[in-house]
Amino acid sequence: MSTNSNERQTDSAPQIAVIGSNMVDLISYIRRMPKEGETLEAPDFSMGCGGKGANQAVAASRLGSKVLMVTRVGNDIFAENTIANFANNGIDTTYVLPTEATSGVAPIFVDEQSRNSILIIKGANALLTPDDLDAAESDIAKCKLIVLQLEIPLETVYAAIEMGTRLGIPVLLNPAPAQPDLVLDKIKGCEFLVPNESELSLLTGMPVDSLEDIRRAASVLLRVGVKHVIVTLGSRGALWLNTQGEELLPAAHVTPLDTTGAGDAFIGCFSHFLVQTGDIRRALIQANAYAGDSVTRRGTQTSYATAEEFARIQP
Ligand code: ATP
Repeated sequence: MSTNSNERQTDSAPQIAVIGSNMVDLISYIRRMPKEGETLEAPDFSMGCGGKGANQAVAASRLGSKVLMVTRVGNDIFAENTIANFANNGIDTTYVLPTEATSGVAPIFVDEQSRNSILIIKGANALLTPDDLDAAESDIAKCKLIVLQLEIPLETVYAAIEMGTRLGIPVLLNPAPAQPDLVLDKIKGCEFLVPNESELSLLTGMPVDSLEDIRRAASVLLRVGVKHVIVTLGSRGALWLNTQGEELLPAAHVTPLDTTGAGDAFIGCFSHFLVQTGDIRRALIQANAYAGDSVTRRGTQTSYATAEEFARIQP
C-alpha cells in the first residue's frame, strides 16, 4: 500500500461540511414540574451532547465519513465538553469557533411518564455568521456535500447555500426546527430538502394529513427549484420526490424505545452513503435502517451506531 503524502492528504480531506448548531443537553429527570416559586428535588440528572448540526455530524462520522464541523461554541466548560465530543467522534474541529457568549444549552425536563419539556438557549449558535463561512471556504470547498439545519441564523444558512452553488457542491437542508421566516426563494439552490411532516406543512402552509397532501406540498418545493425533496415520515419511512417521480421507502420494523434524534440519524447516515456511493435510493434505504436502529436505544448521539455496529444489521 502506498503512503505518499498526496494520498495521505486526499485521505484526510473532509467529505461532508456540516454547518450548524451544537448544544449541551442538561436533562433533569423529575417526578413533576415545579410550581411557580417551588423548589423540588429531581431524582436524577444527565448531560449529553446534542444540537441538530452536531448530531448529524456525529452520525456521518461514526459511519466513516470525514466530517468538517463549522459551528460556534461559548467561552465556558460546555465548550470544552463539546469540542472533546467532536474530537472523540473523529470530527474535524478546525472551525469549531470560540465566542464570548454562552454555549448553546438545552435544559430538558423528563417526568416519570417520559413526557418532556425543553428549553433551547441558542447562545453561541446565534453568532455563527456568513463571515465565519468565508473564513472556512478553502476547506468547505474540498467537501462533496454541505449539510445545513435551522438552529443558526437564517442569513448564514442562505450564505451557505450560495457558497455551495458557487463552488458546485450539493447542499442538503434539513429545515428544522421549523422557521416561519424562512424564504423559499432563498433555498431554491438546495439539491436536497429533508423536512419531516410538520416542517413540510409550515414551509408550504399546506396540510399534510394524508400521503396525497404530503405529495402536493412537496411538489410546491420542487416547483421552487429544489431538486429532491425527502419527507421523513417516522414509522412509515421516507417519501422521496423529484421531477421524475416519487418513491416511498419503508421504515425498519422495530420496537421503538426513544425516537429523539431519529431525524438527525437519518440525515447523517443519508449524507454518508450519498457521498460514498452517489446512489440516492441506496442511501435512503440505509438511512431508514440506521435511524430505525437508533430508535431502539435511548438518547440521541448515544443511540447512533458505529460503522461496525451498523454493518451487522445493514440492509
Ligand atoms: P426527531 O425530531 O425525533 O429527530 P423527526 O421528526 O425529524 O425526528 P421522523 O420522521 O420522526 O423525524 O423520523 C426520521 C426517520 O427515523 C424516519 O424516516 C425513519 O427512518 C426513522 N424512524 C422514526 N421513528 C421510527 C419508528 N417508530 N420505527 C422505525 N423507524 C423510525
